[in-house]
Amino acid sequence: MLSKRTLAVLGGALLVVAGAVYPRAIKAQDWAGQEGSTTNGPTVQDYLNQAGADAKFVEHGALKIDGRAVNCGKRPTVLNPNFDSWGGAFPGFLILNTKKITGLTTAVKLYVYSHECGHQFVGPDESAADCFAMRRGVRWGWLDAQGLEDICAFISQLKGDAVHPPGPKRCEDMRKCYADAIESGKNQSASAIPPAVPVKPSPPPLPQQRSLAPKQ
Ligand SMILES: [Zn+2]
Repeated sequence: MLSKRTLAVLGGALLVVAGAVYPRAIKAQDWAGQEGSTTNGPTVQDYLNQAGADAKFVEHGALKIDGRAVNCGKRPTVLNPNFDSWGGAFPGFLILNTKKITGLTTAVKLYVYSHECGHQFVGPDESAADCFAMRRGVRWGWLDAQGLEDICAFISQLKGDAVHPPGPKRCEDMRKCYADAIESGKNQSASAIPPAVPVKPSPPPLPQQRSLAPKQ
């Protein structure tokens, strides 16, 4: 016979099991250390079902950030105001927390989006995703010295975790990536190479689900 207490315990266990179906989907939101081991995230449809009515699907090519059209190849974005973090990435799609990014400067918003996009191309490495965002910002013309300062001010508040270096270190690394991107842009014009058409990156390795930073 089941006592009330046993039922309560069983109920609790069922909740735990239910929560385990998409553990990474939940963790995806945090820009936290647990994000590092997922190789197969939910499909975008599964994610939308799970995220609930507030989440909005945006087809690739349709997303604008402060009026500026952005894309990450053909990948769609899910706008989810309940996401724990500013942005996240699962294989094949991006997540942007429109509520959380409100109030950030345009450069920081574009950085968040581009960092998540970076995971789609460079894989799980956080520093590589940051550097991808810097290169993209320079090449696409939305990142300048002031934008970099904004990004550094934003990121420097973050502590870091097992996979994310501390914010100040990320800032330092991004300054280098930015300088390199500016430099290689200059070299290109110096050698009279026509302005680069955005290079289509080679097919990405299957990315892991990532997010931008530690939970705040
Ligand atoms: Zn990341």
